[in-house]
Amino acid sequence: RWSRVKGRLRTSVGEDVYTSWFARMDLEGVQDESVHLSVPTRFLKSWIQAHYADRVLTCWQAEMPEVHRIDLTVRTAMRSAAPVKEPTAPADQRRIEQANGRPAPELRATATAPVSASHDALGGSPLDPRLTFASFVIGRSNTLAHAAARQVAEGRRGDAVMFNPLYIHAGVGLGKTHLLQAVTWAGNSGNERKVLYLTAEKFMYGFVAALKTQTALAFKEALRGIDVLVIDDLQFLQGKSTQAEFCHTLNALIDAGRQVVIAADRPPSDLESLDDRVRSRLAGGLVVEMGSLGEELRLGILKSRVAAARAHHASFDVPEPVLDYLARTITHNGRDLEGAINRLLAHSKLNAQPVTLEMAEREVRDLIRPQEPKRIKIEDIQRVVARQYNVSRSDLLSSRRTANVVRPRQVAMYLAKTLTLRSLPEIGRRFGGRDHTTVLHAVRKIEALVARDIALSDEVESLKRQLQE
Ligand code: ADP
Ligand code: MG
Repeated sequence: RWSRVKGRLRTSVGEDVYTSWFARMDLEGVQDESVHLSVPTRFLKSWIQAHYADRVLTCWQAEMPEVHRIDLTVRTAMRSAAPVKEPTAPADQRRIEQANGRPAPELRATATAPVSASHDALGGSPLDPRLTFASFVIGRSNTLAHAAARQVAEGRRGDAVMFNPLYIHAGVGLGKTHLLQAVTWAGNSGNERKVLYLTAEKFMYGFVAALKTQTALAFKEALRGIDVLVIDDLQFLQGKSTQAEFCHTLNALIDAGRQVVIAADRPPSDLESLDDRVRSRLAGGLVVEMGSLGEELRLGILKSRVAAARAHHASFDVPEPVLDYLARTITHNGRDLEGAINRLLAHSKLNAQPVTLEMAEREVRDLIRPQEPKRIKIEDIQRVVARQYNVSRSDLLSSRRTANVVRPRQVAMYLAKTLTLRSLPEIGRRFGGRDHTTVLHAVRKIEALVARDIALSDEVESLKRQLQE
């Protein structure tokens, strides 16, 4: 039933929102008319409560009409699928602790401890000792991102900064956090530069709060000490004042020749809540996308995970055919690959059995998901529509009002509204800075026309097919 509720939620809020906010939500239990759910951070909790409480309740009621209350709490530690102790940190850990101003976690579980734990002025987010360059597998989809990250990590204090900021974007589980933490470990290990790793969440609740209570001078002083600022999951940065603070930090660091590295789940142009100046500053460095993991890369990641596990469990082994099977079927992301190995490890340890293909098929069944539908971009829509109607893309974005441009433009806006999750104001902005009412008008117009004009309706269907291919 929980998975059906999640399915409803996913459909109701859309894939992007679902992965951003609900992927880490767990069911703790159901009692009479209340449902107890948990999330790993206080921030997620307050965000979900403020924006999605009704939606969550509605989805539950669709499955269980008797439910009338949702209790949302913060989990204090992540429950790992495998009851296995993580390897302890390398010798570098002490230095990272100093640089980040707080102890690095010994167990990964502590990485999800409540955000409230620390509000020290420049305390970084916890680092996972396993996420280093040594364990990062290079493949076609991440070669450029990896090379750029290495370059940044290997720079020395006072070096000319090459790409600033370095902005890496990719979907969930494709290695952003791994790469960013690798930069942080590597950068700090020389003990010459100070690298600060922060999640956007931490930036909001710890960093900014601390800065506000200090004088501007102390702020600048603190910043002077940082050579590389690494910010993960920038898409979570919310709120006007936080953004102003972030913009200020970004500018100050870049202008002072300090390196900034950022990861997010989308390109700067799609960070809708950020203002234009920040967006263009972000896009002004090097923007690199990491694509989905190819089969070879997936195999590499699996092997690296097995090798890591074997360092502590020498008897653990995953035969080649099982690795092939996993690499072929778990296509979604690195997190699921990691989960699969953890489960096989746990299962073979607990039952003292060697890993077999049969065991793998049984244990990872739920990790094998159908490919998600392709995410369509507004640029693609503009390109395909322009081609179809034999106008240029800049015509679509221009203010020209001749009939041969107006209709294609309306069709493109209509498609943008129906095929993407973008809001009307965002679509307007991406169509040469139009008002959201203009977009709404276009959408209504085409909706009405499609209902009675068969030729246009066919055209629109054909465009949709082209875009979905
Ligand atoms: P993201 O931050 O993009 O959501 P993560 O960096 O957390 O993704 O990666 C998810 C999991 O997949 C982690 O266990 C990570 O170590 C692993 N992973 C992803 N890409 C790679 C890679 N290229 N090499 C090794 N492990 C990877
Ligand atoms: Mg991440």
